[in-house]
Amino acid sequence: MSKINSTTVNRLRFLYGSLSYLFGVERFGHLFAKRIFWRANTEEPVVALSFDDGPHPIFTPGVLNILDKHDIRATFFLIGRNVEARPELARQILDKGHEIGNHTYTHATLPRIEDHAVISEIRTTSDVIAHACGGLTALLRPPRGLFSRRVINLIEANGHKTTIGDVYPRDTTLPGAPVIIQRVLRRVRAGSVIILHEGFSFENGDRTQTMESLKSIVPELKKRGFQFKTISELIEFDQNDGHNRTGPPE
Ligand SMILES: [Zn+2]
Repeated sequence: MSKINSTTVNRLRFLYGSLSYLFGVERFGHLFAKRIFWRANTEEPVVALSFDDGPHPIFTPGVLNILDKHDIRATFFLIGRNVEARPELARQILDKGHEIGNHTYTHATLPRIEDHAVISEIRTTSDVIAHACGGLTALLRPPRGLFSRRVINLIEANGHKTTIGDVYPRDTTLPGAPVIIQRVLRRVRAGSVIILHEGFSFENGDRTQTMESLKSIVPELKKRGFQFKTISELIEFDQNDGHNRTGPPE
């Protein structure tokens, strides 16, 4: 790729990231999708960090080190085929006390595929994770945050809670660590679920910005009095019983 092209691509990516950040569905989605867990409705200073698209041989251990250093737990939404390639990393995540969630087997856009394919994406990933580390997954984050009523029904029928988050700084568009930090700190509130990425769904790339921002986000949130929870722990703080909890599939 020529220099001009790569500059153009980076500018477009930045523009997309900024617009998507401004109008992101995570800010108001909870108003019309009660069956999805976005954030806990609580006044308690609790927050959950979540990491998508792993495991990755470099960035997953990097994130685990940072979390270790601060003695906090997080939730990792793993891609099934990535777990298959690096089962030892899934084991490490679980051994360190973090929670593992299902992020489908191929990072599929679930509303675009048929029922049997959605079910296969969910079950194959659960099986791969169980085989890798004996972990059971209760949560599923649909890739790209895309879902439909049909998809939610299938996720629930297969034993998972659909989980998004309310603070997404668009770290995948590489806006720079200072921007990621600022976006998280501006939107975070009691009960927030923060969405970051330590792995990749397709091409390999760089998650250095996410790692760098994490080194500032964690101490700053601690300074503000936040306690870090896994998402399952955070759900326990939620006061919307019957709204945000898993119920029978409709
Ligand atoms: Zn993803």
